Amino acid sequence: MKIFCIGKNYAEHAKEMNSEVPSKPLVFMKPSTAVLHEDKPFYYPEFSSNIHYEVEVVLKIKKHGRHIDPKFALEYVDEIGLGIDFTARDVQAECKRNGHPWEVAKAFDHSAVIGKFISKEGKDLDSLEFYLTKNGVTVQRGNTKDLIYNFTTIISYISSIFTLKNSDLIMTGTPAGVGPVKIGDHLVGYLGKEKMFECEVK
Ligand code: MG
Repeated sequence: MKIFCIGKNYAEHAKEMNSEVPSKPLVFMKPSTAVLHEDKPFYYPEFSSNIHYEVEVVLKIKKHGRHIDPKFALEYVDEIGLGIDFTARDVQAECKRNGHPWEVAKAFDHSAVIGKFISKEGKDLDSLEFYLTKNGVTVQRGNTKDLIYNFTTIISYISSIFTLKNSDLIMTGTPAGVGPVKIGDHLVGYLGKEKMFECEVK
């Protein structure tokens, strides 16, 4: 199982990172050891002093696919979820400054909170509302209508480079409002009104 992530896929987030909107989907990966299942605590890692939350809609791939035509892309997904792409922002800044790869900032153990999955049936994938609360206060709010590259484009694009397999996950990008966590914080993610995960920072 592998996890694909899309960077800077909401214009307002690209802006808050002082970045340009990418001219094609910006893809990076996390290994299976990055997964932190819903409701398990996140232990603040020692190598960073600026871990940020990024709440993202997650797609679960259900079958093997390569070079997927956009018109069939959504047939490769039947469940959607919500998660956090935890990012060591200080380490990432150093990687960016030096032109180095991002894995140490993005792909570390438990950097991918993965909540429960629900059927996509009856959902308008182009208009999914989601939000994240920290200690009961909403800190990020997004809607997939604001994606720069929608699910169809992402799936088709990734599959033109990497074979997609059953149970692979795609974290589709974070909206504006990313920010730091500290020990003791309590994060809760919602898709629509449905609670998808909780995560305590320890
Ligand atoms: Mg992200």
